[in-house]
Amino acid sequence: MGKVIAIANQKGGVGKTTTAMNLAASLAVLEFKTLVIDADPQANTTSGLGHDPKSINTSIYECMVDGIEVKEIVHKTEIDHLDLVPSHIDLVGAEVEMINMENREEKMKEVIAPLREEYDFIIIDCSPSLGLITINALTAANSVIIPVQCEYFALEGLGKLLNTIKIIQTRLNPDLEIEGILLTMYDVRLRLSNQVVEEVRLHFKNMVFETIIPRNVRLSEAPSFGLPAIAFDADGKGSVAYLNLASEIAQKNGLQKVTS
Ligand code: ADP
Ligand code: MG
Repeated sequence: MGKVIAIANQKGGVGKTTTAMNLAASLAVLEFKTLVIDADPQANTTSGLGHDPKSINTSIYECMVDGIEVKEIVHKTEIDHLDLVPSHIDLVGAEVEMINMENREEKMKEVIAPLREEYDFIIIDCSPSLGLITINALTAANSVIIPVQCEYFALEGLGKLLNTIKIIQTRLNPDLEIEGILLTMYDVRLRLSNQVVEEVRLHFKNMVFETIIPRNVRLSEAPSFGLPAIAFDADGKGSVAYLNLASEIAQKNGLQKVTS
């Protein structure tokens, strides 16, 4: 059974999408069968993996609301072992349409159930909100990765997120674990970056991944090529960091594979 990992933080611009794309690609490079589900109406992961959101008319939303089989909307990507369930802007309407549905928090879990046997990892990229779609993702997930940007106000909103996770653990998904807090956009030259690392490690101790994602221009350029960075800059420090993160997660889950 594949492991489902949601990438969540209601703060925008902290590196959720960059992490979803590049972590998923790295897991695929390690030959784990990996699926990314884009659960953000902004569809950045969809375009970042080479699919034009304007040409997409079926997303996880139609599966949750209209009962479309998710297997019908799995797209291939340029990376071997990496597939995508894309998003498009209509996902915005989903929360409103779902309001009166029964078990509305559990729709995504039901929808993706048939995929769990086909993949080693399913990575869900969440939107910058704690709305119903994100709650669905956290209810469907085995664990959550929380990206935290090494910047001012890094910890802002983290309390609220951790509280939401606790509520979900109590009411909807008792097995939900925190896979880890991921420090992103680290700049070794900045005192602030180093202070954030220290502070987050002090507060959250072994909840924090050993791997730190550096600020790296290839990671920010990657979406414009419709490819994860590892596809065109495999030795770059951004790609290497995400590969290290993939190994760290594989190891933590007892799924070690050798990198060649
Ligand atoms: P989120 O999905 O949380 O909103 P993104 O992953 O889209 O965040 O990142 C926000 C912006 O920062 C994007 O322009 C992205 O390219 C850039 N970015 C993210 N991570 C890095 C990094 N490690 N180095 C450089 N730029 C980054
Ligand atoms: Mg995003």
